[in-house]
Amino acid sequence: MTPPLPLWRRVLGQDRARERFESALARGRLGHAYLLTGPEGVGKALFAQGLAQRLLCRAKTAEPPCGACADCRMAGANNHPDLLLIEVVEGKQDISIKQVQEALLPFLTLRPMQGERRIVIVREAERLNDESGNALLKVLEEPPSFGMLLLTCSRPHALLSTIRSRCQEVRFERLAPEHVASILAKRPDLDPAVAAQAARFSGGSAGRAVAMIENGSLTKYGTTIATVTCLPETDPFALADDLAEWTRAKGKESDSGKAEAGREALRDYLRLLSCAYRDVLLRRLGAPPQTLCQEDAAGAWAALAQRIPVERAIRIEEAIWEARRRIDANAGPAFVMQDLFDRVAMLQG
Ligand SMILES: [Zn+2]
Repeated sequence: MTPPLPLWRRVLGQDRARERFESALARGRLGHAYLLTGPEGVGKALFAQGLAQRLLCRAKTAEPPCGACADCRMAGANNHPDLLLIEVVEGKQDISIKQVQEALLPFLTLRPMQGERRIVIVREAERLNDESGNALLKVLEEPPSFGMLLLTCSRPHALLSTIRSRCQEVRFERLAPEHVASILAKRPDLDPAVAAQAARFSGGSAGRAVAMIENGSLTKYGTTIATVTCLPETDPFALADDLAEWTRAKGKESDSGKAEAGREALRDYLRLLSCAYRDVLLRRLGAPPQTLCQEDAAGAWAALAQRIPVERAIRIEEAIWEARRRIDANAGPAFVMQDLFDRVAMLQG
């Protein structure tokens, strides 16, 4: 039986980042601190763990890591003695100063137990607060020779600039829809048709695709989209109330019972809607639709694209962006959606 492919080579769509590290390793020029940035859900955390495996594997193979030795297995399971994972503790907002002072700093003062390096992965480094960020800064300024810090971050502007400037930044790309599709295909619990649709709508993020399936925004989009194209013939307020009610229910059914889950689902819904209207614009300009968000109710979208002027399609897209911004700013979903659909009705009228 052939051994499973090591994590390092299993991360899809990020060959450029992988080649950058391989080339630094080949030249003996690997740095001590890297910031892996890019959209959510494109494999940054998995890549960091794969890289840890790559650096900790001591098997003599032509193409390390071997994926099968004790080091590889422990790194893959996140219990290697020379690997430390720091992330937000469940129920907390930030990475605390305690996590940095009592776990990270001591970990990097001890020499490696097995190989040549001790590796720390800090997931979602934007969640470091001022205190914990400054504590981390100390070790970034003078990292031990055997130390390696891998920070992942999808909002680098939210990071202390002093941290950012002390790390080498590695940009991660959005995934191609076929890569998202093959990641989703590994989950036997997903209906293949739903998975394919989510992959097209994902905006290049496998994490987003899974969230859209799990939070129901994909289904809700499918069931309401014909109604949206029929505005103003259908009542914009009834549609807004329906979505606000759905958002509330999503918040209630989430594990923590937090309204944030509902907002997250609504944000995904609005993202799908804005993709669909961008495609209206493309059709209008004689270009083929890009996101395939219009596959549901395709006839209704084509008819809409026939009758709506370009500048109105642009204004609808802007209105959707404005709604997303308001949801981010914690405005009430009912109010935001009423205002949005009212404007869409007016512009489509
Ligand atoms: Zn190995």
